[in-house]
Amino acid sequence: MPRVLLVEDEPAIADTLVYALETECFDVVHALTGTDALAAAGREAFDFAILDIGLPDMTGLDVCRRLRETSPIPILFLTARDGEVDRILGLELGGDDYVTKPFSPREIVARVRAVLRRSQTRAPLPQASENPQVLHHDPAAMRVHCHGEPLDLTAHEYKLLLVLLGKPGRVFTRDQLLENAWQDPGAVTDRTIDAHVKSIRAKLRAVRVGAEDLIQTRRGLGYLLSL
Ligand code: CA
Repeated sequence: MPRVLLVEDEPAIADTLVYALETECFDVVHALTGTDALAAAGREAFDFAILDIGLPDMTGLDVCRRLRETSPIPILFLTARDGEVDRILGLELGGDDYVTKPFSPREIVARVRAVLRRSQTRAPLPQASENPQVLHHDPAAMRVHCHGEPLDLTAHEYKLLLVLLGKPGRVFTRDQLLENAWQDPGAVTDRTIDAHVKSIRAKLRAVRVGAEDLIQTRRGLGYLLSL
């Protein structure tokens, strides 16, 4: 039975989540504050953590940092405001995920299962020297292939990935990505870039688990392609 640490200070939300998770055979420990959560994590091992961002004594991001000092535990964040999403995306999320309130308990259970599955099947990426064609651009077909599989990208996703692919290892700010991949950058926001990167990562992951890590987040700066 997977053990889940749920940190949520709103009892009504916590109760529905505990019920939904227990019904799906998860073993849940619920903490109302960050302090209680860290104490619980010090006493026993968990397979997964669900962290509300807005807690009375610290933020869920603080709890995440403290938990990660001792274990690579997968984490699902619960956020109440759009503004918090940027801060979550700024983390090196790896196999983690977030949902915005309001959400359905069933959605949470599905996300927990997906993240657990990903973290269990995650294989290390081959070194670039072993596989120089991890990403391959076919300019004539205007397609990018990942491990030989064509990625089904939208026009903006394709242009954005090409910018990153043009200089692997270089950090591009969101503004630079907007200017290079959009004809009319004024019409879109930083959030648009984050949403597109999230979508490209999902498509990379669909080809090969772990390939989403090719696009790395540089916190507070932007994104880079790491081959
Ligand atoms: Ca809260």
